[in-house]
Amino acid sequence: MALARPARFLSLAVRLLREPRRNLAGRGSDESLPVVRVPRALQRRQEQRQSGRGSFPRPVLVRPGPLLISARRPELNQPARLTLGRWECAPLASRGWKHRRSRRDHFSIERVQQEAPALRNLSPRDSFEDLGLEPRVLLALQEAAPEVVRPTSVQSKTIPPLLRGRHVLCAAETGSGKTLSYLLPLFQRLLRSANLDSRRSTAPRGMVVVPSRELAEQVQAVAQSLGRYLDLQVIPLGGGLGMSRLKLQLCRYPSADVVVATPGALWKALKSQLINLERLSFIVLDEVDTLLDESFLELVDYILEKSPIAESPDELEDPFNPKAQLVMVGATFPEGLNQLLSKVSSPDYLTTITSSKLHCIMPHVKQTFMRLKGAEKVTELVQILKQHDKTKKTEPSGTILVFCNSSSTVNWLGYILDDHKIQHLRLQGQMPASMRAGIFQSFQNSSQNVLVCTDIASRGLDSIHVELIVNYDFPLTLQDYIHRAGRVGRVGSEVPGTVISFVTHPWDVSLVQKIELAARRRRSLPGLPSSVRDPLPQQA
Ligand code: ADP
Ligand code: MG
Repeated sequence: MALARPARFLSLAVRLLREPRRNLAGRGSDESLPVVRVPRALQRRQEQRQSGRGSFPRPVLVRPGPLLISARRPELNQPARLTLGRWECAPLASRGWKHRRSRRDHFSIERVQQEAPALRNLSPRDSFEDLGLEPRVLLALQEAAPEVVRPTSVQSKTIPPLLRGRHVLCAAETGSGKTLSYLLPLFQRLLRSANLDSRRSTAPRGMVVVPSRELAEQVQAVAQSLGRYLDLQVIPLGGGLGMSRLKLQLCRYPSADVVVATPGALWKALKSQLINLERLSFIVLDEVDTLLDESFLELVDYILEKSPIAESPDELEDPFNPKAQLVMVGATFPEGLNQLLSKVSSPDYLTTITSSKLHCIMPHVKQTFMRLKGAEKVTELVQILKQHDKTKKTEPSGTILVFCNSSSTVNWLGYILDDHKIQHLRLQGQMPASMRAGIFQSFQNSSQNVLVCTDIASRGLDSIHVELIVNYDFPLTLQDYIHRAGRVGRVGSEVPGTVISFVTHPWDVSLVQKIELAARRRRSLPGLPSSVRDPLPQQA
């Protein structure tokens, strides 16, 4: 009975509370006023819960169909058929990733098309013949690269203005076939121009400048295979050669028609008068955005100063003293181009070609972002590599590139992989030239499946066997991200590509958010220049 008393008091109290106020106060003026005892929002939630709706966890509306963004939290998914408007905001899967509690979260930008954009929207009638190339050059192409049958969209846009003698700036996505778009017109011009043979030192008529010796070897290999059928000699002039080796290289080929050089080696050869650029009639700056970077700018300025670049198209046609045509190509639009152009030529004679997919997230490559603590990266990487090794035994697969931001990380990570008995190659800029030589080539030949490297392997190198890129360190700029990711999903790639990026620092997260937003909006990445600042005439 004693226990029943408090219960009675309680029920009395509840009754009194439920009674209209007038019963307590007896004041007629307050009769109509409702009394709020439970906050409205709480009441609504309780009602919802009672009616069975809105109970926690809230059911997620999973829409059928393929996804553009697939997140760990499915409510942040974006279907492939939706595109976020330019000014529209959406909750990002990487939102809140600067907080440490977001660790182990992840999301992917899915593959929404199978083939590289450069091969899309080509009319079946497109052919190299229609671009104005001579039969001799076409034959050489057929012999050297029988797999190249129809031009990519970049080649269709670039070759005709080059054959008409325009200076060209071409900015188009990675792996779209830019090398052939300048090499074919280069050879055609050399075949037409006179080869006046009166030289004391090597005096090439064509020159391609590239930022790394690996890329020099690669471009030289493509050019040589074409040149062989046209009776034109192509030589590489890579960095890391001592003065005596440089001399030997140039003396061995005094009549080289085309030189593919790195800025450092070329600068050395020019300074010591081992090479003479007076007879140049075609000069290419490949990966021009990197060549205009501070580390190369001074050298490139000097090289261009020594090159006889045509001021007008008439100067190109001078039969006795033809001047050089200038071509600049890159996968990201170069900054500081105006200053360069003002020094070498009038911008009026420059045709700018930018692909519609420039600076866009590649739609045919799956890109996964994993938010990790720094200490978790090694375990994650080892797991990925071992998993890949396992699947390799059952199904055909490609090779893997692991990017780090510094040479010391490459070395350190190499030792760790050695401990785990994971076979790999290493490539970084601080290696001695003798060690560096041939590393990328042996990786390209698939003699080794994993290459741990710095950004020196991110520019221009063709890698059709590569299946997976791992950004062990997240790149420091969006340009670097574009270049690294561009090692997969190339025209002619044998396997569909994937990029996995480890995200650890707050500054990494800022870049990831820009990438995610650009992917959701299907627009180009922000903050990268996409035109020459002063508008240039677009006529071809
Ligand atoms: P980029 O310089 O734009 O990054 P590359 O010139 O290195 O690209 O070319 C990428 C790959 O595409 C190379 O393996 C090349 O042989 C191949 N390729 C180029 N043009 C064609 C084409 N028209 N058809 C098929 N494959 C091509
Ligand atoms: Mg290239």
